Amino acid sequence: MGLTAKYCINCDHTLSTDKYYCPVCFSDRLEEKRLSGRGEIYSFTNIYAVPKPLADQAPYYIVLVDLEEGLRVTARYNGDHVEIGKKVELESIDRRAYYFRPIGARERD
Ligand SMILES: [Zn+2]
Repeated sequence: MGLTAKYCINCDHTLSTDKYYCPVCFSDRLEEKRLSGRGEIYSFTNIYAVPKPLADQAPYYIVLVDLEEGLRVTARYNGDHVEIGKKVELESIDRRAYYFRPIGARERD
């Protein structure tokens, strides 16, 4: 389990989308790399009105996380206190949704 992204072997740029060439140097020498899964909260919102299948989970936080590698991802937040700039790490990926928790938080059972 983890986050991956393509990066350019030619110029070391990490791509934010799944392209077939580097948007910086136009090289097609791309490889997949594993990301650290760590970053900090850029912004967040609290979701109260949800579709029916998620009704038992509301309210919950959606956060924008700036990853150490320079990419920004949208994720769910598993933690009590949320604030901009808070250090977070990837906890899990479930049905293509990312779940982040504060760094140092204990594993959930
Ligand atoms: Zn490049």
